[in-house]
Amino acid sequence: MSTVVELQEQQNQSQKRPAAPDIVKASVTRLQPYVPGKPIEEVKRELGLAPDFPIIKLASNENVLGPSPLAVEAMRQAAEETWLYPDDTCFELKNALSRFWDLSPEHFIVGNGSDEVIHFLMLSLLDRGDEVVFAQPSFVQYKATAMMADCAYTAVPLTPDMRHDLPAMRAAINERTKLVFIANPNNPTGTIVTRQELEAFLSDLPPRVVVVLDQAYYEYVEAKDVYPEGIHYVREGYNVVVLQTFSKAYALAGLRCGYGIARPELIGYLQQVRGPFNVNTLAQAAAIASLGDEQQVPRAQEVNAAGKRQLGQAFDAMKLHYVPTEANFILVDCGRDASQIYLELMKRGVIVRSFAPAQLPTWLRVTIGTEAMNQRFISSLREVLADA
Ligand SMILES: *Cc1c(COP(=O)(O)O)cnc(C)c1O
Repeated sequence: MSTVVELQEQQNQSQKRPAAPDIVKASVTRLQPYVPGKPIEEVKRELGLAPDFPIIKLASNENVLGPSPLAVEAMRQAAEETWLYPDDTCFELKNALSRFWDLSPEHFIVGNGSDEVIHFLMLSLLDRGDEVVFAQPSFVQYKATAMMADCAYTAVPLTPDMRHDLPAMRAAINERTKLVFIANPNNPTGTIVTRQELEAFLSDLPPRVVVVLDQAYYEYVEAKDVYPEGIHYVREGYNVVVLQTFSKAYALAGLRCGYGIARPELIGYLQQVRGPFNVNTLAQAAAIASLGDEQQVPRAQEVNAAGKRQLGQAFDAMKLHYVPTEANFILVDCGRDASQIYLELMKRGVIVRSFAPAQLPTWLRVTIGTEAMNQRFISSLREVLADA
């Protein structure tokens, strides 16, 4: 009897022991946790603000107009079905995507957010010894992906006007390079790679390099005359994977649904590493309904274009430098320590995004909101800059 108890205690103790670095993969010990834009409730808790204190979140590039009413209704109906596992193959959603993009369903893989598709790319393509190339600053997940796979990476600085330097990225590619990430538009700068630039880059790549065109902000691009549509390069048979998401213009960030588009052979390999039932029932229903709502994207585009002008004019008036954007956010240079301004804005109920001091010490990224939200951000920023 007593020996059994002793044994259990010993086991409990050994489970309580903290994970020693030597049992964890070295690649994991080096990872830095992702720091998301702060949720509204967390800000209220941290600053001791009253529960009804009005806070606006312009930190994560969500679409402040919210989801399509058709998507909300589809979720209501699908709610009754949630005792069943979701459709593992996303059959209907892939058919809807197939009609939407005019490509066969075999060209699509759906993920729990496009982040998960990036994970599939890592699991199916990256062996130790392979290398990854991406821009800096760009979406932080690219670096994390390379690190998780224990792969070397080259982070190629943007040009002084905050655009991808594709010739420099080409020069960073060697015989070990497997994946290249290009966010187009780029996050956090909102800049795009042009058709001419991309085609020069793609025309001269070693055959084993897969180029990921992350088009999370695709719907917001206004410079259609020079913007390269990723899908065109998939059709032409390039080693390109296009990423799209329902998190931004479709305003379904809370559901986690995104997808990859590539030639079917490549999609087949990504499918091999996809866990079962990765896309939930509500996400599938809402995504299908959103694709069928012809007003969702135009409405987002219209409000965004107006907000872009509004913020641009305000920054001009305040003599603040900002990066012309093709997305639903703007990167603005406050001309002094931005982490301080970020905190002061937060105290005034406005959550935006600041960055690692090593990268963009004086810049803030603000999501473009409604006219009223933008106005509140601008008045708060004026106040903070005048105080300092
Ligand atoms: C927001 C964002 C995504 C979308 O991620 P999800 O996982 O689909 O929500 C992907 N790439 C970039 C560059 C983004 O900014």
